[in-house]
Amino acid sequence: MTEKAGDISRIHMSAAERRFRSRLAQVLSRRGVMRGTLLVRRRKCGKANCRCARGEGHESLFLVISENGRTRQLFVPKEWESRVRRWVADYHHARELLEEVSRIYWDKVRQRQD
Ligand SMILES: [Zn+2]
Repeated sequence: MTEKAGDISRIHMSAAERRFRSRLAQVLSRRGVMRGTLLVRRRKCGKANCRCARGEGHESLFLVISENGRTRQLFVPKEWESRVRRWVADYHHARELLEEVSRIYWDKVRQRQD
């Protein structure tokens, strides 16, 4: 086990692997990345004459993650929503790309292919 990550020459990579890795690098070079699921909750504020008393309630956005078996949630203020949505989408995209690279290595081991 002397091989370091930096020792892997890109020349030995397949075109597919290079493509996935460069897209991954591109996604991660953007501002934020955030794991979690966005969830809209509705609640009534309690004011008798508010429109929410009759309707569905006010919407609030939360980011929900599970960490070490615990579920944590974070309120996302309206002015943060678009950023947080972008970061969460980038996280999912990065994960998919990482999965693609992982699949290539799965096949390498399965086929005993260096
Ligand atoms: Zn209300």
